[in-house]
Amino acid sequence: MVSRVIPVDPFDLVIFGGTGDLAKRKILPALFRRFCAGQIPREARIIGVARSELTDADYRDLIAKTLDGTSDKSQIDAFLNCVRYVPIDAHRTDGWARLNDFLSPERVRAFYFSVAPHLFGELAQRLHDHGLANDLTRIVVEKPFGHDLESANALNAALAAHFDESQIYRIDHYLGKETVQNLMAVRFGNMLFEPLWNSQYVDHIQITVAETIGVAGREAYYDYAGAMRDMVQNHLMQLLCLIAMEPPAKFDPDAVRDEKLKVIRALDPVEPYHIVRGQYEAANEDMQDGYRAQVGKPRSTTESYVALKCHVSNWRWAGTPFYLRTGKRLVARSSVINVVFKNTPHAIFGPEAGRHANVLSIRLQPDEGITLKVTIKEPGPGGMRLIDVPLDMSFAEALGSGANEAGDAYERLIMDVIRGNQTLFMRGDEVKAAWGWTDPVIAGWQARGEVPKPYASGSIGPGDADELMRRDGRRWQGIKP
Ligand code: NAD
Repeated sequence: MVSRVIPVDPFDLVIFGGTGDLAKRKILPALFRRFCAGQIPREARIIGVARSELTDADYRDLIAKTLDGTSDKSQIDAFLNCVRYVPIDAHRTDGWARLNDFLSPERVRAFYFSVAPHLFGELAQRLHDHGLANDLTRIVVEKPFGHDLESANALNAALAAHFDESQIYRIDHYLGKETVQNLMAVRFGNMLFEPLWNSQYVDHIQITVAETIGVAGREAYYDYAGAMRDMVQNHLMQLLCLIAMEPPAKFDPDAVRDEKLKVIRALDPVEPYHIVRGQYEAANEDMQDGYRAQVGKPRSTTESYVALKCHVSNWRWAGTPFYLRTGKRLVARSSVINVVFKNTPHAIFGPEAGRHANVLSIRLQPDEGITLKVTIKEPGPGGMRLIDVPLDMSFAEALGSGANEAGDAYERLIMDVIRGNQTLFMRGDEVKAAWGWTDPVIAGWQARGEVPKPYASGSIGPGDADELMRRDGRRWQGIKP
């Protein structure tokens, strides 16, 4: 299937942290793919900014190494032709005038803050002080957006001092995934699901984000944050919002974000006995790759896994639990939302036929797609026995290679920044409400001095997470690669 590419107008994009890991692995390759697709015009300017004293040529060499080597050399050259570099230290005053000279007053100018969050406020201030901010300015900020409600409020205030909310794009790359938007298309574009999308028909909802990687490379940050802050407060919370929200009146950024905000505000506080925290143990015999050894803190009580049960207290979801789990070093890399429907009210085929609930699985990674498990008769003689069969739609199969993951999310989100569409970005009040729900959970286990449960690397997580479900007569859907 050929996707329709609508070119954007020429723009200026400044990447603060242009030599960093995120810029090299995600942002620049994403821009290159959009350039090759014909969406970014040749007149666009992409300006890397960092502290290193590099020339344009040095920077282009650095970027060329990050681009898909199989690409046409002339495409790479044409893309690099759009790329410039300006050395600036966020703490200093030099370099800003030179950066300003590169920017056109008539174009959208986006400043991507791909730097540590403690620099966000200072960058916003300097953009203002050096006259780089105008009405066409947009700023893009990466996660983590704060460490708790207080720091998120301070960050919001620092950005709001110089930019209107309509100019601030808080990235959560999960929201840029094809499936996430498809979740809205499936819910609000089909008559089939929405009438059943409530506590009368849905038994419970599971949201799983499982990773196989550990914390290597991000030790200090991760040990300060933990899974609750790093994953639940943002990615899992955003997915929960999209699953649980009411249909917005129109597909408009604030209409969608208003509905998401209502979900977060309707979340009950989580009961302490509805949360399981875990920390992975070493997989190899020298015991060096366990969580504590990796972060270099033998007594660290930071969780690399969390599972919890929560309730959205509103008319639609009263009585339907949402189970969320996420962890590192698990058996497979898999992000999936399972909507588990109730059983039919009466088993007409008798107990020997078996009963199966319908499950709608929305897979975000690794293979984006949607599966609906339906019950049919087991083929062949032997009476009426029921089995599950999946009605499977893999986006990669159905839509071709354009439905890939990860890179795509950044491609879509950066193009949305240029187009000025904030639908897939978190608004300040959403972030604030999400921290408002997360903070007491963390404060609770800190006050109780809780230590996370150890779990084996490569497992499905601590056994207590199964118990969380078993107590309710339910079980987790398997974590499949
Ligand atoms: P990094 O440490 O690899 O890169 C940081 C960049 O900031 C470098 O280019 C560095 O030169 C620049 N920098 C540092 N201090 C500066 C200063 N005073 N003035 C100007 N430039 C300065 O970090 P990263 O992994 O690229 O992460 C960047 C941001 O993105 C962070 O906020 C991080 O939390 C977030 N993030 C990263 C990833 C990822 O996969 N790397 C994923 C999600 C979010």
